[in-house]
Amino acid sequence: MLISRRKFINQSASIAAGYSVLANTQLHVANKVMTVNGWMDAAKMGFALSHEHILVDFIGADKVDSSRYDAEEVFQTALPKLLFAKEGGCKTLMECTPAYLGRDVRLFQRLSKASGLNILTNTGYYGAAGEKYLPAHAYTETAEQLAARWITEWVKGIDNSGIKPGFIKSGVDKYPLSAVQQKIVGAAALTHLATGLTIGIHTGDGKAAMEELRIIQSYGVKPEAWIWIHAQNEKDRELHTRIAKAGGWVSFDGVSNDSMADCLDFLKTMKSGNLLDHVLLSHDAGWYHVGESNGGTYHDYNTISDKLIPAMKQKDFTQTEIELLFSANPAKAFTIKTRKK
Ligand SMILES: [Zn+2]
Repeated sequence: MLISRRKFINQSASIAAGYSVLANTQLHVANKVMTVNGWMDAAKMGFALSHEHILVDFIGADKVDSSRYDAEEVFQTALPKLLFAKEGGCKTLMECTPAYLGRDVRLFQRLSKASGLNILTNTGYYGAAGEKYLPAHAYTETAEQLAARWITEWVKGIDNSGIKPGFIKSGVDKYPLSAVQQKIVGAAALTHLATGLTIGIHTGDGKAAMEELRIIQSYGVKPEAWIWIHAQNEKDRELHTRIAKAGGWVSFDGVSNDSMADCLDFLKTMKSGNLLDHVLLSHDAGWYHVGESNGGTYHDYNTISDKLIPAMKQKDFTQTEIELLFSANPAKAFTIKTRKK
């Protein structure tokens, strides 16, 4: 990780210079997503969990390094959880841990092959949590230079692995966004325009989501290319419906026993507004915690299959609606496609 990062810094000037060459690098393949094992028909995605984690290291951008954990131990810890998710019907899992928080794409590829689950990883920077997970160059470089780094991961693969991102993952805190947070949202918009990767942004509250929407639209990106991650942080349903009506994806990705009632109420609101086709659901669960004994508490990915879906059926959600939420919507949301105004 350290070596590749140093290499990135050395390359940054040439990457920036080559930005115009890298623009429009999207391969025009219809209805495909990008997994850690390469292109896949979006229709094959099946039951998908759109926001989960396998490995996270909260040490901070200045100290994070793959030498801080034993990849074999993480593999042995995560594999049974992934197999259990598969037993629950899951076919595809989006791993949402960004760079500088422990993203380990070779580990994900190995776990994907061993479990048979499709796994998508990401590019982009996480500017939430007081910006503890941003590398120093995020402050000094322009949005175009940051985008050039992320576009390079799409073109060449991540950390010399050849493994490509399946989406952009960034993060911001509550409104108002800081200057660097605004910049990384802009960089995400530029990366989308050049690659067709969907933009997912960890978001502190609904007002911050509205600001993200304004920024990406100012770059000419359609709301359909953007996922409001952690929409459950906002309790004002009016903002959920407003963003879904604008075309954005509203992601309630904190499904747990504790949030079950809130989630069902959210779904009821979205259903009554005919907006279920703009909703994503997931647990934000897992994961191996680097620095904790045996990785700490690793939560499973099965609350949706075991509890939420049965509860939805009791509330008269149809099988068609359930398939829309867990298969059709993720397939559409994560399809590689430039969505430009
Ligand atoms: Zn998360």
